[in-house]
Amino acid sequence: MAFCESTKITVMSLFLELGLKEPINKALTDLGYEKPTVIQEKAIPQIISSTDDLKAFAQTGTGKTAAFSLPILQLLDSNSGNVQAIILSPTRELAVQIGNNIKDFCKYLPSVKVTTVYGGSSMEDQIRSLKRGSQIVVGTPGRTVDLIKRRALKLGNVQWLVLDEADEMLNMGFKDELDKVLEATPDTKQTLLFSATFPREVESIAKNYMTNPVEITSGQKNQGSDNVNHEYYAVTERTRYPALKRIADLNPNIYAIIFCRTRRETQEVADNLIKDGYSADALHGDLSQGQRDSVMGKFRKKTIQILVATDVAARGLDVTELTHVINHKLPDQIENYTHRSGRTGRAGNKGISIVLVNGKEKGKLRPIEKIIQKKFVEAKVPSGKDICQNQLMNLIDKVQDIEVNETQINEFLPNIYEKLEGLDREQLIQKFVSLEFNTMLAYYENAKDLNDLSSRDNSRARTVDENMTRFFINIGRKDNLNPGKLIGLINEQNIGDKVEIGSIDILDTFSFFEIDKNFEDKTLEAFSSNQPDFDGRSVNVEITKKERSGGGRRGGKKPFGKKDGGFGRRRSSEGSSSSSRRSSDSGNSRGRSSDRPDRSSGGERRSSGGFGRKRRES
Ligand code: AMP
Repeated sequence: MAFCESTKITVMSLFLELGLKEPINKALTDLGYEKPTVIQEKAIPQIISSTDDLKAFAQTGTGKTAAFSLPILQLLDSNSGNVQAIILSPTRELAVQIGNNIKDFCKYLPSVKVTTVYGGSSMEDQIRSLKRGSQIVVGTPGRTVDLIKRRALKLGNVQWLVLDEADEMLNMGFKDELDKVLEATPDTKQTLLFSATFPREVESIAKNYMTNPVEITSGQKNQGSDNVNHEYYAVTERTRYPALKRIADLNPNIYAIIFCRTRRETQEVADNLIKDGYSADALHGDLSQGQRDSVMGKFRKKTIQILVATDVAARGLDVTELTHVINHKLPDQIENYTHRSGRTGRAGNKGISIVLVNGKEKGKLRPIEKIIQKKFVEAKVPSGKDICQNQLMNLIDKVQDIEVNETQINEFLPNIYEKLEGLDREQLIQKFVSLEFNTMLAYYENAKDLNDLSSRDNSRARTVDENMTRFFINIGRKDNLNPGKLIGLINEQNIGDKVEIGSIDILDTFSFFEIDKNFEDKTLEAFSSNQPDFDGRSVNVEITKKERSGGGRRGGKKPFGKKDGGFGRRRSSEGSSSSSRRSSDSGNSRGRSSDRPDRSSGGERRSSGGFGRKRRES
């Protein structure tokens, strides 16, 4: 999320102005919080000044944890060891995250104690911690109820009950547990309900358990969403998985979550990606707590680039640098799309939220557009050649940026120079590039146009227009290019009065556009004589062949070879894995699987065993 710059003095006063005391401000300054977020600005003074119940519309990433916990820290009686606040959260991960956040917030409030309770972890340790006296307890619903039943958790003095991500808790079937916790708390408490969506079930909780709640909202969307572009790819069931792989291949530096609806779908997509050599893993409710922690740890450290996850399991994973969120399938409840897409475009970064839709699913896009108040842009599944070009440019960027360690490499160089004698500069470049590149080229050599396949059941998919010439241009999304700017750039070249511009594909580091065939030469001439630049980058335009295989685009040279190379990914042929195939018995298949949407509670629900076992499906 983007937080404005401000000086330290302003920082202090901004949080002090909301009514918070100095030790809390000091902790916030240490955390680098410079300015309250919208939900914090609204909730903090409201909770401090009034005991009215509160209903807050707030999405993931809006700063809602601080919004409800800071006023509680401000008001609670640190001399008493009684539980004064109980915070319920749907998953263990989220509970742990909230507990840790609060511990950070009370860095300078030494008498305040926080205990986090959740399933899948020692109940005895949690009971011991409660016995030592905690003013704040954060818990998952099931474990909280277990501890109430054992009389280890006494909620008779609770002043604040926070229901965080209330919609998710109800989605996950925690209605009974919520009822039990609500019963165990006194009527005098203040209930603070935070939810990203307000379906009927959440409204009925609000109606039955809250008295005239004050309503606040963090605005239409969190700030991150403004930084997110939404794209859809038209696919069929046959092309869904190959399209997914091509999207990953087009973006060599991808750091993404692929969202799936069910645990089985999640495991299968992850298995297939791993088998096809991608840096991926699965995260869903069938994994044991240890497995989930390990996968999340690897993803946070970027040891894996692609996390395939269910909505529920991905909660509590706080990563700010995702380049992409990919909806392998749209969520059952379209409101959850905002949860998913809000995972990217955070902390001022740009993000892309991609949806793969078949003909039937496309109808879901419009209602989502209404919620996000943005249009989905149709993107074409990249061709093999698009991918090879992107990968090649990425490789060249890396070559440009690599630092040469002269002291280490110098002693080897004379031998190397001797061996490579006789090769001129061009040949050398060709050989080194091919070394890295040939696997991808071979892999995509006869790759089909997946858009043609999908166009059968998709009226909005584009087809190749024979009256148009397709041009490659060396600038893309990363240069802040968009279709409007590209049209402007083309028009500035004065190619002709009535020149027709066809389809435009903006990719990360380069783009394609179509121009009326009759203006093919003029377009090339105009760009070459005007030598325009775009945002300081000199622009280069070349004709791209429509057919997707064979040949290079640079002056008839053959930059693409056929030798084996080390692309870093082990590949079989493109169609080798499909999302419909049963999961293999590979080491990555874990636990039992389910076709139901993942409602597991992050270690909360007890399984009938079998975690860690390889899955066998008949
Ligand atoms: P939350 O919505 O509570 O999960 O918060 C999302 C992220 O924003 C977390 O990493 C918080 O630490 C961070 N955050 C919350 N409030 C602020 C703030 N006022 N300034 C800077 N970062 C914040």
